[in-house]
Amino acid sequence: MSYVDQVYENVVKKNPAEPEFHQAVKEVLDSLRPVIEANEEKYRREALLERLVEPDRQFKFRVPWVDDQGQVQVNTGYRVQFNNSIGPYKGGLRLHPSVNLGIIKFLGFEQIFKNSLTGLPIGGGKGGSDFDPKGKSDREVMAFCQSFMTELCKYIGADTDVPAGDIGTGAREIGYMFGQYKKIKSVYEGVLTGKGLSYGGSLARTEATGYGLLYLTQEMLKCNGHDMAGKTVAISGSGNVAIYAAQKAQQMGAKVVTCSDSNGWVYDSEGIDIDALKEIKEVKRARLTEYKNYRPNSEYHEGRGVWTVKCDIALPCATQNELFIEDAKALVANGCLAVAEGANMPTTMDATEYLQKNGVLFAPGKAANAGGVATSALEMSQNSERLSWTFEEVDSKLKGIMVNIFHNLDDAAKRYGKEGDYVAGANIAGFEKVAEAMLAQGVC
Ligand code: NDP
Repeated sequence: MSYVDQVYENVVKKNPAEPEFHQAVKEVLDSLRPVIEANEEKYRREALLERLVEPDRQFKFRVPWVDDQGQVQVNTGYRVQFNNSIGPYKGGLRLHPSVNLGIIKFLGFEQIFKNSLTGLPIGGGKGGSDFDPKGKSDREVMAFCQSFMTELCKYIGADTDVPAGDIGTGAREIGYMFGQYKKIKSVYEGVLTGKGLSYGGSLARTEATGYGLLYLTQEMLKCNGHDMAGKTVAISGSGNVAIYAAQKAQQMGAKVVTCSDSNGWVYDSEGIDIDALKEIKEVKRARLTEYKNYRPNSEYHEGRGVWTVKCDIALPCATQNELFIEDAKALVANGCLAVAEGANMPTTMDATEYLQKNGVLFAPGKAANAGGVATSALEMSQNSERLSWTFEEVDSKLKGIMVNIFHNLDDAAKRYGKEGDYVAGANIAGFEKVAEAMLAQGVC
């Protein structure tokens, strides 16, 4: 049996009931085959892959808090510190009822390669809880965040592990967590990113993942003889990534015609009204059914359906496994030119293969959505310097990083005879740096 297959089989055996983690490991290892085969003897002796798929450590803890009725609630908290061979662990905190250890491990594993691709010194980690901030009062969210941080603060630090936002964790949650960290540890340091601007946050961090997605997509299009201007774009999600992806796409001259949340989706043939979307989601924290009040000519549909709309570019920006094989077929049938993942692992493996086989340009999340973590690393630099950079300075660094990521993965794909396979290119480029660092640091 090949080394890759052997390691994958062991991962499944040792980590049962973690399908998302298996899926992430399989996708990465499959596309690393040419690199692994070229170095098989050395990597086997060093057990490099076995070390790569086993987190450095993982924490699972109780998070008790009191709701507005005086009832004690109990959630489960997680932090997985996956790999710190190129820098302190870095990765977001997801607050969503679907969170379990397997999901956090898949996200932490992906984060290793994503962070490496940014070219910045950050390792891979991820955390979160099955707490659902939706429908909770501010006081309840604060009570949860304080309890969560009371435990988490034992494991993190500005040079150790620096969490950030993710699904369900925005500026409000980061603020409550930062306050609790400071209170318990009596130290003011850049232990979290995505902070408010008045206490160490970076300008452009809010926009970074969505903007970065568009910078990379634009570069991919350019290198393949196309341009964002004039294109019709379908976006899923209506959270942080989706909103700022839509905003930047429209700034680049494209028309975004869809967005969605977990209940339904909107089609606006005149182009999504970003200000309305921001007000609904960022200010009112309401559902997308409200969109029609702002744009009476738009359509609201219950359930899924974004990928049935005719578009040139599809940007899945909601969650994992939200673009299936039947969606990929609909996109191809409608003449879709490119898919770039704003979310982590939103496209299933068979859908990815179908899109690639049918000539659709496909940018995987670990490259396409790396702008968020890259800007988080820029926030860490500003915190260490005790300085803040202007919006333009951060945005221009972000753009440079995203363009660079695209060329790195394009080159890596070409080096291994996989021209145009940006999934392989991203995994190879991300892996090479981490592998070199792990080998240089000995068995640890
Ligand atoms: P938000 O919580 O701001 O928004 C998530 C959006 O996706 C919401 O519209 C939400 O709808 C929808 N959604 C979430 N879960 C589901 C589900 N199970 N089915 C259908 N829709 C769902 O999160 P972000 O925008 O921050 O994150 C979106 C994706 O991007 C995630 O995969 C995240 O890991 C990834 N990402 C985020 C980064 C960041 O900087 N924020 C960085 C890199 C990647 P509803 O409100 O109904 O739940």
